[in-house]
Amino acid sequence: MTDPSFQPSFQPSFQPSKAQQDLQAAARDLAERAIRPNAAEVDRTESYPWDNVAALRDGGFMGMTIPTAYGGRGLGFLDASLVVEEMAKVCGVTGRIAVEANMGGVSAIMRYGSEAQKKLAADLVLGEGDKPAICITEPDAGSAASEMTTRADKRGDHYILNGSKHWITGGGVSKLHIIFARVFDEAGADQGIGGFLAVRGHTEGLRIGAREPTMGLRGIPETEVFFDDMMVPASHVLTPPGGFKKGFGELMAAYNSQRVGAGTVALGLAQGAYDHALSWVQEREQFGRPIAEFQGLQWMLADMSIGLDASRLMLHRAAASADPFPDARLAAQAKIFAAETSIKVANDALQMFGARGYSRNRPLERICRDVRMFTIGGGTAQILRTVVASRILERKLPQGRDGYAEKQGKPVDSARPTAAARAAE
Ligand SMILES: Cc1cc2nc3c(=O)[nH]c(=O)nc-3n(C[C@H](O)[C@H](O)[C@H](O)COP(=O)(O)OP(=O)(O)OC[C@H]3O[C@@H](n4cnc5c(N)ncnc54)[C@H](O)[C@@H]3O)c2cc1C
Repeated sequence: MTDPSFQPSFQPSFQPSKAQQDLQAAARDLAERAIRPNAAEVDRTESYPWDNVAALRDGGFMGMTIPTAYGGRGLGFLDASLVVEEMAKVCGVTGRIAVEANMGGVSAIMRYGSEAQKKLAADLVLGEGDKPAICITEPDAGSAASEMTTRADKRGDHYILNGSKHWITGGGVSKLHIIFARVFDEAGADQGIGGFLAVRGHTEGLRIGAREPTMGLRGIPETEVFFDDMMVPASHVLTPPGGFKKGFGELMAAYNSQRVGAGTVALGLAQGAYDHALSWVQEREQFGRPIAEFQGLQWMLADMSIGLDASRLMLHRAAASADPFPDARLAAQAKIFAAETSIKVANDALQMFGARGYSRNRPLERICRDVRMFTIGGGTAQILRTVVASRILERKLPQGRDGYAEKQGKPVDSARPTAAARAAE
C-alpha cells in the first residue's frame, strides 16, 4: 500500500543560519559555564534549580518563541530546540525547563490566547522565568487522556472547576497553569474539552498535592494538582478556533511542539553520555592499549553516533515542519525514535565506563535514570505509534471503552464520555 499521507511539505536545510549558529554557541557557553556545575547537585538534592532558571532568563532563553510584540525574541521551534539540546547535554532538568518555557503551553497561549492572556503569559515567562504547568493527566485518565473527568461548569461569566490531576511537571514551582477540563454549560450539557488558565497564588481553589518520588529528572517536581470549586473567569478560557468541541484536538496540536522538545531533551542527554564515553574510551587503557582500540567498543560507538544523528535529523525536521505547530506524525516519529535511542545510547555509554559508570560520582547513572522518562511522559511510545499509524491509514483509530465493561459484566462508569462523544470532539 502506498502512503499518501507522508509528504513532508518543506525542504529541510542542513545548514544552520549564522543566527542559529550564534544562538547555539551562546547556549553552549551558558550550559558549560552555569548549568553543568550544578547538575549533580540538582539531582542529589532534588531541588528546583532556580539559579539555572535565572541564568536561562537572563540569557534570553526563556520565552524565546514569544513574538517580539510581547517582548520575546520571535524565534521558531527549531531555534528553541538547538538551545534545549545544549542545556540537556549537561542537565536534563534544565533542558526540560527550556522546553516548557518555549514550547507546548507557551505556544498554545501565543497561538490561541486573547491579548490579555498573551500578556499574562509573556510577563510570567519572560519576567519571572516561570515555566507553565500543563495539567492533562488524571489518576484514571493517562493514555486515555480524553476520558478526563475534571469538569468546568459554566456559571454566568465564570467556570467552576472541580477535579484532580496527577504527574504535573512543575507542580508547586510553576505559577501559570493550563488546565484541561471537560466543559458543561449552564444546563449541564457536555460541550467538549477546554483549556483554563490559572495562576498559583492568585487563583483560589488551586491546590498542590503530593510530590511523586521519581526515578530521574529529580530536580523538577511531579505532583498532584487539585481544583476545589476553583473559579476561572471566562476571560481565562483558552479557546482554540474550533471552540470546545474541537478544543482537545486543537490544544493537543500545540502539544506537538512539546513532543519535539521532549525528544530533544532525550537527544541532548544521550549526546552528553556519548561525549563522556568518547573521551573515556580513548583515555582508559586495558591490555596495554586504549579501550577504543577494541572493535567491540568501536562498533558500539558507531551505532551510538548513528542513533544520535538520526534522532537529531528527525527532530529538526519535525521542528521545521511547524505551521504553526509541528506535524503530528513527524513529531510522534521523532519523539519515539529519540526517546528509545536515548535509553540505548545512555546505557551503552555507561557500559563503556565499566564499574565507574555505575558510580554516583559520575553522571552516567543519572543520565540513564533521566532518559528513562521520555518513552512515557507526553504520550507513551505505544500511544504515539497509534498516532503514526492513524496517519498512515488515514483514519482515526479509536481506543474506546465502549462495550468493554458490559461484556465483562462490570458496572459502566457513566461519568466518562463514550467513544462516540469523544470522536465528535
Ligand atoms: C516524568 C513525567 C512527567 C509528566 N508530566 C506531565 C505533565 O506535566 N502534565 C500531564 O498532564 N501529564 C504528565 N505526565 C503524565 C504522562 O503524560 C502519562 O504518564 C502518560 O500519558 C501515560 O499515562 P499513564 O502513566 O497513566 O499510563 P497508562 O495509560 O496507564 O499506560 C500504561 C501502559 O499501557 C500502555 N497503553 C495504554 N493504552 C494503550 C493503548 N491503547 N495501546 C497500547 N498501549 C497502551 C501505555 O503505553 C503504557 O505502557 C508525566 C509523566 C511523567 C513520567
